[in-house]
Parts: sequence; C-alpha cells; structure tokens
Amino acid sequence: GCGTKELQSFQKDEFVLGTRGQIRVFSTSQRRGNATIGKAFTRIREIENTMSTSIEGSDVYRINKNAGKSPVQVDPETLKLIKMGIEYEEITGGVFNIVLGSLIDLWGIGKDWQKVPPQQEIEEAKRHININDLEIIDSSVFIRDSKMLMDLGGIAKGYAVDEAVRVLKNDGVESGFINLGGDIYALGNKPDGTPWNVGIQNPIIGKTNAIARIALADQSIVSSGDYERYFIEDDQHYHHIIDPETGYPSTNELVSVTIVSETATDGDVLSTAAFVMGLEDGLSFIESLENIEAVFITRDRIVYTTSGIKDKLEILDDLFTIAN
Ligand code: ADP
Repeated sequence: GCGTKELQSFQKDEFVLGTRGQIRVFSTSQRRGNATIGKAFTRIREIENTMSTSIEGSDVYRINKNAGKSPVQVDPETLKLIKMGIEYEEITGGVFNIVLGSLIDLWGIGKDWQKVPPQQEIEEAKRHININDLEIIDSSVFIRDSKMLMDLGGIAKGYAVDEAVRVLKNDGVESGFINLGGDIYALGNKPDGTPWNVGIQNPIIGKTNAIARIALADQSIVSSGDYERYFIEDDQHYHHIIDPETGYPSTNELVSVTIVSETATDGDVLSTAAFVMGLEDGLSFIESLENIEAVFITRDRIVYTTSGIKDKLEILDDLFTIAN
C-alpha cells in the first residue's frame, strides 16, 4: 500500500480584485498543495482581467468604451456572468443592478474623488441605469445608452471565489478555505472531520471582532455592510452600496447582511440586494429563496436570521442579541 501520509496545511495571501485574497488547502504534498493554490489565484486573476472596469482592454472596459456605439465580442464566461446579472436584476426587483456604473462612478466611494455629488448629477446618472438598454446579441454585448456603464463589482468577487473552489476540487482538494475580502467558501470539513467555524465580523465601525460564528462545510458565507468602504461628510456616513431607486447609498436600519449559500456568487449578489432592501423586505425575500440563509444585523445590534440557520448561529459578543 501507499501508507498514510499526514495532511498538511498550505496557505497563500495575494492582493487580487482590489482586496486581500487568502487560500488555504490541506494536502499530503507540499508541491501539489502550493501548485493548486497557485492555479486558483491564476484563475482569479483571469476573472479580474476580464471583469474589471478599470483594466484597459478587459471585456467590461471595452463594453463601456463602446456604449452607445457598437456591440463588443466578449469571452463566453463574461457573457455568462452578465446573463446572470440580468437575471438577478429581475429576481431582486431591480435592487441589484450590474449597470449602475454611472452612479457608482459619480459617488466614487473608495476612490480619491469620493464626495457627495450635486443632486442634479445624481438625477442625471439615474437616467442611465436602465438594464433594458443592455443588449446581448449572440456572443456580443451592447450598451445602447452612451452614458450607461457596467460595473460587476457586486458579483465578480463571489464568482471568482466559486471558480477558485472549482480549481481546488478539480485538483482533488477535499479540505480548504477561500477568503476574498470577506467573500468566503469553506471547502469540505476540516481534516479532523469537523466543520469550519466562520466568524461574522462586528459591523460596528471601529470594531473587528467576530460577533457570532457558524459551522460550515461546502458552503459559502458572504457579508455586505456599510462598514467596509465609506466616507464621512458633514457627519453623514456614505457607503459603497447604492440604492438604484434613490441614487444614494442605501439608508435603513441595517448595518450588515450575511448570506450563507451554496455559491459565493449568490452570496455576493444577495447580500448586497438584501442590504438595500432593508430588514423586513430583505428577510422575506431571502426566506422565499431555497437553500439560501441570512443573518441581518441592525444598527441597534439586534440579530435576525432566516429560519433555516437560527440554531446554527452562535453569538460570541453579548452586546448583540438574537431577535427571533
Ligand atoms: P464588497 O465588494 O465590499 O464585498 P459588495 O459585494 O456588497 O461589497 O458589493 C459592492 C459593490 O457592488 C460596489 O462597490 C459596487 O461596485 C457594486 N454595487 C453597489 N451597489 C450595487 C447595486 N445596488 N447593485 C449591484 N451592484 C452594486
């Protein structure tokens, strides 16, 4: 026989998709462990190079450059993700929108031009976010409105996590952990056979502790919140998740939404969407979806969960209380 080799942990951190990426795998071979991590990061960079709005020559860059002019031939993968984006727009009643670029650029959250834009500029940008002006013709993508811009920032990171997971699985990895700036996938169980314990970050600004944890195996966990990227102007807090209805960063009782699902793509989109919807609508929306669970945290530190996850959540910080 081949004997039993010890599983060892291998990990690498890289800066990808504008955030910190972290991949950890368990393998019996150092060479194979490190090689599979390398392949997964290469896959993530491929996605960044096609989906980025700012990388010159990326599919999205070219789609935006040719808005109002001509259809752009894109990679089948880009096409697939854009089609998913169009479906999510419908499912979320327009709350999640992959052509919000005009508004996202105007606010510039996280960019050096971030500021509260003049109301008339917000009104103007809002005229150019109609998903019906996004057209797919065979394998080409055409933005009919010359002032409309695509931004896949609310879906690409989750998709990249799922693709990295696919790479690891194809290489036979049975246990691993991927974290792309808070978009997480727990692959398999830990080598000792118990699930991964994943923390939910304290969404109160200035805090970084885990306020709760949840046991996961072969599941994704993704959070959206107003504490991640934001600026403050005149004592007001402006964050990076835009409500297409108002053209402003969403304002409601929520400070974060965490989604537990089978894919990080779903998690990425649905955490953003539910965050904009607010507690009541967000909760009933997520409850209506199969195999998707959520944790909602309000500004006054009350934790609401969907029914399927309630007894799996363990509160670690007693300043937070479970509501239901
Ligand atoms: P993060 O990237 O910090 O994890 P999210 O996953 O919640 O945050 O995605 C926020 C990003 O999605 C924004 O930076 C922006 O690019 C884009 N975005 C903002 N508002 C929306 C929206 N209503 N629909 C779709 N995408 C959005």
